[in-house]
Amino acid sequence: MEYKRSSALFAAANKVIPGGVNSPVRAFKSVGGHPVFVKQAKGAHLFTEDGHTLIDYISSWGPLLFGHAFEPVIEAVKRTAEKGTSFGMPTELETQLAELAVKMVPNIDKIRFVNSGTEACMSAVRLARGYTGRHKIIKFAGCYHGHSDSFLIQAGSGAVTFGSPSSPGVTPGTAQDTLLARYNDIESVRSLVVANADEIAAIIVEPVPGNMGCIVPESGFLHGLRDLCDAHNILLLFDEVMTGFRLAKGGAQETTSVRADLVMFGKVIGGGLPVGAFAARGEIMSHLAPEGPVYQAGTLSGNPLAMAAGLAMLQSIENDPQVFRRLADKAASVHRGIESTLREKGIPHTINRYGSMLSVHFDEEPVVDFESAARANNDTFKRYFHHMLDRGVYLPPSAFESYFLNDALSEADIDKTLTALKDF
Ligand SMILES: *Cc1c(COP(=O)(O)O)cnc(C)c1O
Repeated sequence: MEYKRSSALFAAANKVIPGGVNSPVRAFKSVGGHPVFVKQAKGAHLFTEDGHTLIDYISSWGPLLFGHAFEPVIEAVKRTAEKGTSFGMPTELETQLAELAVKMVPNIDKIRFVNSGTEACMSAVRLARGYTGRHKIIKFAGCYHGHSDSFLIQAGSGAVTFGSPSSPGVTPGTAQDTLLARYNDIESVRSLVVANADEIAAIIVEPVPGNMGCIVPESGFLHGLRDLCDAHNILLLFDEVMTGFRLAKGGAQETTSVRADLVMFGKVIGGGLPVGAFAARGEIMSHLAPEGPVYQAGTLSGNPLAMAAGLAMLQSIENDPQVFRRLADKAASVHRGIESTLREKGIPHTINRYGSMLSVHFDEEPVVDFESAARANNDTFKRYFHHMLDRGVYLPPSAFESYFLNDALSEADIDKTLTALKDF
């Protein structure tokens, strides 16, 4: 397939936007080539500026649970837009979305809306610090919590120690307060907790990580975090920006039966519009301004268009709870199909899947954390990505990203996807 118009559009974008994109993964840096420009989309299909149709496996990186241009969301946005797009004053829509979220998610009484997952995580950590009066947080190598300073810290060659900044512009002072542990390794967490007694405000984790590919939590790991937090008065923060309203209506709290103290949302909760949120029991949320002293605000927070889209999305989930089963079944078909072809061809691989999150790593060893994810063969991944793209299948353009299936994906789409892999 030729992508001449995308290529020209990318060249034009590069003149006025750094790297030609407004979020780095879109630039195809880790797979090579240039990004595909999309003109419009419907259901599971993307229509590119070049006139090609692609089967979409990223669903805008998660939000579009029911597929692109989902009628209830589009209608709600249109209806709301007619009445004005922003007021800087409260609207009933905010309460309606809050009530529905509180009803669907375990262990939360109150929720605050923001504009992105990044904002949600940044604000949740501030609240955790304000609530506990402690400064340090523990995060896991390979877990992504948005681009705020405290989270841009990774392990140097697997060292479980004080973090060093992984981006210029993050100060050593900030990095010092972020301690790094290894996902699926409870001892790496325990030793940090013991070494920093009474200094740790929060442990922040993607309960089912999707930002080093999909990683499945090992039995007991998340319960182990809960126990450590209880024993040391640390708040457990579940970053459910990816998993919330995707794995189940109650997110990973529901599927793993581990309860978090603070939960962060994004992606699905906005139905494809910019929404993030963080939520907890009333006792914790009451520390937030204007009820309490921990400051947090936003001119466009609770924006009516975004709330209307989120409300239509969550209502659609409420009315159709079988959607999670259907999504997991579709992901299982994709998983089985890819697995059998790669096995036939003798290509070393590991496929991780949890519900409708899935990732293919080109390595035989189990992929359980950042180190094992980073070990996989990226040259094979590049070839695989471009092979599929050439045959009309749009996969995540990085081995460190999860697939996100949507409910509009049909059996015919899955067949076409698996056929495309046959001559890899
Ligand atoms: C996407 C994501 C974020 C960041 O959300 P943005 O809306 O991109 O700022 C945070 N945490 C997780 C787990 C995510 O997947």
